[in-house]
Amino acid sequence: MQILKHVMDDVIKRNPNEPEFHQAVEEVLLSLEPVAAKHPEWVKDKIFDKIVEPERQIIFRVPWIDDKGEEHINRGFRVQFNSAIGPYKGGLRFHPSVNIGIVKFLGFEQIFKNSLTGLPIGGGKGGSDFDPKGKSDGEIKRFCQSFMLELNRHIGENTDVPAGDIGVGGREIGYLYGMYKKINNEFTGVLTGKGLGWGGSLARKEATGYGLCYFMNEALKAKGKSFKGANVVISGSGNVAIYANQKATELGAKVVAMSDSNGYIYDSNGINLSTIRKIKEVERKRISEYVKYHPNATYTEGFRGIWNVKCDVALPCATQNEIDENSAKTLIANGCYAVGEGANMPSTMDAVNLFINNKIIFGPAKAANAGGVATSALEMAQNSMRYSWTFEEVDSKLQEIMKNIYEKCSSTASEYGFEDNLVIGANIAGFIKVAEAMYAQGI
Ligand code: NDP
Repeated sequence: MQILKHVMDDVIKRNPNEPEFHQAVEEVLLSLEPVAAKHPEWVKDKIFDKIVEPERQIIFRVPWIDDKGEEHINRGFRVQFNSAIGPYKGGLRFHPSVNIGIVKFLGFEQIFKNSLTGLPIGGGKGGSDFDPKGKSDGEIKRFCQSFMLELNRHIGENTDVPAGDIGVGGREIGYLYGMYKKINNEFTGVLTGKGLGWGGSLARKEATGYGLCYFMNEALKAKGKSFKGANVVISGSGNVAIYANQKATELGAKVVAMSDSNGYIYDSNGINLSTIRKIKEVERKRISEYVKYHPNATYTEGFRGIWNVKCDVALPCATQNEIDENSAKTLIANGCYAVGEGANMPSTMDAVNLFINNKIIFGPAKAANAGGVATSALEMAQNSMRYSWTFEEVDSKLQEIMKNIYEKCSSTASEYGFEDNLVIGANIAGFIKVAEAMYAQGI
């Protein structure tokens, strides 16, 4: 890094102990060197220095009472990173690993992802270090209500529109929305991922997983390959993983392995998705239960082990940094020719470099998983119109959006002399729209 080195140095100095945030910024800045060389006016106006500093960071106390009457205190976060092209938009994550650095890395990525969708949405992210695992419905409800009691004053349909992420699905969005409505006495599209009967969009729940497969389908097609007949491994067994499995299977692939944070299952007949949904969505149990229903399948402890399974296409859909250098080496040695990131930043920088240098078809998260937020923006549009589109209408818009994102990433990569490097293409294409808006607005 040359022109932008001082920006990276500053980020490290001003945001100590936030390695995930540093990692996300470094990956983007490395890609933006040629843009900085081409646009000295943006360097002079400190657009690069401004874009790495959130517009606003909110940290708050979330007290709640468990079923035994005992008090607990968690920490809530909302980072409103960039509103140059639209209201802040990005999910809420409830997981014990959440801290301000994690929320900033996710919020930073969200700026470029949202820009790539072509829709008018800025970047934000939030969440809490609350652990929903093992909590009763009542405990989840009380936590969500307490969380919204503070968050509500910072959000709004034209200001900031949160959605779900890890640990925040339809149930949690329901509790959060109910509390927002009670406090503000208004029925507006302030959250996305809502239930279908109260402002939600058809195809939102499927959108990230489906969108990932639509994006990868384009990337595979460009190299004369397809999902048809491919063996696919998908990490995670949450929202993104489940619908990635469904769409990949529909497109002719066989998904042979899935996981949760404890371990992974392998089923040579192809994973039975109904069983996964029963275990994860209804019973909320561990993935190890799968072998009780399908004795031919195997369960192995340890979440990284899934990358030892031989496959043609890998779709990491669990969490950040789940594919490290060793896992990437194993995937490549086993003949994997395509990797599509459903999760946010699931590959370490070393892993990404290995994929690019080995000519693996690589779909980076901010492009490949943008279908979720794109459909959230479609939910916002339907809320504003007080109207709803059919599943087919939303799905066809999603397909079009993912195809456009692929084309934008691919053509931008070529334009800057990095043929086939979708990482660089996504970073540059996502950045330019936001930078132009920031420059024009003088902010
Ligand atoms: P869910 O909570 O529905 O599922 C998460 C899955 O990942 C679960 O199977 C979970 O296992 C596993 N997982 C979570 N944390 C870890 C960990 N530290 N180590 C190993 N496995 C883990 O979340 P989503 O499916 O919504 O999100 C998955 C990823 O996709 C995240 O990176 C998210 O940011 C990203 N994403 C999600 C979007 C969406 O629309 N939902 C949009 C764009 C990106 P367990 O059950 O054991 O916790």
